[in-house]
Amino acid sequence: MKENPIIIIGAGLQGLATANALIDRGEEVLLLERSSGVATQTSFANAGMLTPSQAAPWNSMADIVNILSGIGKKDSPMLLKLNQVPSLFFWGMRFLLNSSKSKYSSNTENICKLAQHSLALTQQIREKYGFNYDHSSVGTMKIFRDESSFNKASQEVKRLSDLGLTFKVLNNQEVVEQEPCLSDVSERISGGIIFPDDETGDAYKFCKELETVIKEKGGRIHVNTEVKRIHFNKRKVNSVVTDRVEIKTSRVVLTSGSWTNHLLKNTRLNLPVKPVKGYSLTLDTSTLNDAPKMPIIDERIHTAFSPLGYSLRVAGTAEFAGFNEGIHQKRIDYLYKTLESVYPSIAAKLDLDKGTLWYGFRPMSPDGMPYIGPTKISGLFVNTGHGHSGWTLAMGSGDVLADLMLKKQPNLEVKPFLASRAV
Ligand SMILES: Cc1cc2nc3c(=O)[nH]c(=O)nc-3n(C[C@H](O)[C@H](O)[C@H](O)COP(=O)(O)OP(=O)(O)OC[C@H]3O[C@@H](n4cnc5c(N)ncnc54)[C@H](O)[C@@H]3O)c2cc1C
Repeated sequence: MKENPIIIIGAGLQGLATANALIDRGEEVLLLERSSGVATQTSFANAGMLTPSQAAPWNSMADIVNILSGIGKKDSPMLLKLNQVPSLFFWGMRFLLNSSKSKYSSNTENICKLAQHSLALTQQIREKYGFNYDHSSVGTMKIFRDESSFNKASQEVKRLSDLGLTFKVLNNQEVVEQEPCLSDVSERISGGIIFPDDETGDAYKFCKELETVIKEKGGRIHVNTEVKRIHFNKRKVNSVVTDRVEIKTSRVVLTSGSWTNHLLKNTRLNLPVKPVKGYSLTLDTSTLNDAPKMPIIDERIHTAFSPLGYSLRVAGTAEFAGFNEGIHQKRIDYLYKTLESVYPSIAAKLDLDKGTLWYGFRPMSPDGMPYIGPTKISGLFVNTGHGHSGWTLAMGSGDVLADLMLKKQPNLEVKPFLASRAV
């Protein structure tokens, strides 16, 4: 090991993708993770969707109305806790500024381009090392419950075809042909849009595969190692202090997700990344002959249904409630209810009590785009703020960060993602 490895703090999707990209460019890396394993936090049981098609950030007027109407309501898909309003004030103002039509559409296009680049890299690494993570390449399908949102989405999606995104608009019969398990509710569906280039896969299993490859290539990963502080000398990175040792280094990458700001306390930098809590419920479908095969997004209830191997994962809800630990019964009931409303026969056949419940904190930026690249402190880099698209954007963001660190020209326009727009 060289004297001066690049230290990456946080071994979720972004930390692992960053480490891999730097190793492939000949760099020595040391990845530090406070949990007992990699990807045990937000990258553990997300919806599993790799979806350039869902690049749109959450700044649309419809989403804003959803968030505001969820104030104080524990059973709505989006919840804003009143006691969080003061701490969300400045973040919220930036969020609103990014909801203008022009900002919203340019941010969507930028995220879409990064997502396409990222998906291509995910496919490449899968093929190169034979990764197995219950992936599926059948695409994803978005379903709509009312004519007006269906018509609106069918119009809006045409814009993305300029970016090379393929899609097909379906009537409700065609929706059922794609996923016969929806036949029970076909009368309640106005239509759907299928995105054949999207993929799905278990992000945790992918991370475990990536961990193995990183180690085989000489990268070091220390789990059970919490970084307490970063020391600076004349606005330059000097060392990292963990709960055990102090490690000299001149380059640090923060991939600490929703916790990134905790490590910036002594820097006067303030990255506007807020935790937005979401839940998932994973059910064993191995006993079913007719388990769903097509990953579905139900637009009205903001919920994803992903078949992952012999399981079905239902994921969604967004709580702007800080680091609110614990699983609330109303959120669980909400996931059960959504499953019953989309797949009533499947729900009746499964023992819902045996499902595995999980929650994670999406690291959310106010414009929906990640922060990637150098900060105002020499040697300090960030790769975080991926919000609801961190699985989709991981491999691409790691690639871009590595190029920026090594002063190479990245493969796509990176200006919109630069961390310097915030710190
Ligand atoms: C319900 C839900 C569904 C989702 N569905 C999808 C989806 O379908 N598709 C998609 O693209 N994205 C999805 N996402 C988003 C995606 O999961 C996240 O964007 C992504 O996991 C964030 O990865 P990360 O590496 O930034 O953060 P994390 O996975 O949280 O990793 C950060 C790591 O840093 C570590 N850390 C923090 N501080 C320190 C410290 N001081 N010292 C050492 N280690 C530290 C933490 O322990 C953690 O392991 C979903 C998220 C949720 C909650």
